Amino acid sequence: MVEKDYEFYCGYDFGEESGHTHQYGGASQSSTRKSRRHRRKRRRLSLFLMTILIISALMASVAAVFGNVLSEHLLALLVNLQSDPLRQENDRGTLKNENAQNREDAEEPFLILVNRDNPLPAGYETETVTLRNNEKVDERIYPSLQKMFDDMRAEGIYPVVASGYRTKEEQQIIMDEKIQAYRAEGYCEEDAANKAREWVALPGTSEHETGLAVDINADTNMSSGEEVYEWLRIHAHEYGFIKRYPQDKSEITGICDEPWHYRYVGESAAAEITEQNLCLEEYLKRKRSAPKNSVESDGFLLKKPRIIYFLEEVFLK
Ligand SMILES: [Zn+2]
Repeated sequence: MVEKDYEFYCGYDFGEESGHTHQYGGASQSSTRKSRRHRRKRRRLSLFLMTILIISALMASVAAVFGNVLSEHLLALLVNLQSDPLRQENDRGTLKNENAQNREDAEEPFLILVNRDNPLPAGYETETVTLRNNEKVDERIYPSLQKMFDDMRAEGIYPVVASGYRTKEEQQIIMDEKIQAYRAEGYCEEDAANKAREWVALPGTSEHETGLAVDINADTNMSSGEEVYEWLRIHAHEYGFIKRYPQDKSEITGICDEPWHYRYVGESAAAEITEQNLCLEEYLKRKRSAPKNSVESDGFLLKKPRIIYFLEEVFLK
């Protein structure tokens, strides 16, 4: 207010006084001009500063709004990427592959091949559990065997383990008994021995010596053999067991059809063997000549691009 009055006064004064006191008036004019210039400068500076301020404020608002929208957009994009069904499917696929691979690795010890050409390795040992009827099986297969029997019984079919783990000596006794039986039928010693070998594995080459094989028959008071064999043929692989000596594979296995003899190989191998109608010899030959499961290359293909890691790092943490 004071400044404004003074300004008005000066302006008025300037007009009135201009004719009289030149010297004084000149000094006054010069100082007034200076102060006007000074004020103009200040006004211009204020205007400039105000403009800068307004522009800055505008830019800040725009940046805030767009920044939010942009980051929301990026977040949404990332969230979408995270929850993309195809991507999840792929991730699940990788996980499934990894799980399958882990399971396959864990089941590898069950893939031991024992046949006439592949005797049991010297010093092979197995921890067994004794069943109610005094038969024994490898303790590692017991839970699967029990589950399979429980499920069969739930369907009204009653199996028994007719023969489980055998020592080499026990296998020898079975072989001797079989030869004697053929001898009793009139076969000569050599023929009787050859006939016996069609049914009984030579000691040291029987799967029963691994503890992983079981002969499953019917509890004949409750079920028939056919019922049991049929159920096993359809379902045993679900529990990790395979029918080890199918009729159409006897050329390869060297053993005639045995619908009761089941061998634990683990669920992965059992599924593949059953689905593809293989015998264990064929499965192992294929598995060991094939390159290892390409989980690694799948993993590589499904790997997140680096930029996604970077954006996640910036926006999601
Ligand atoms: Zn058997």
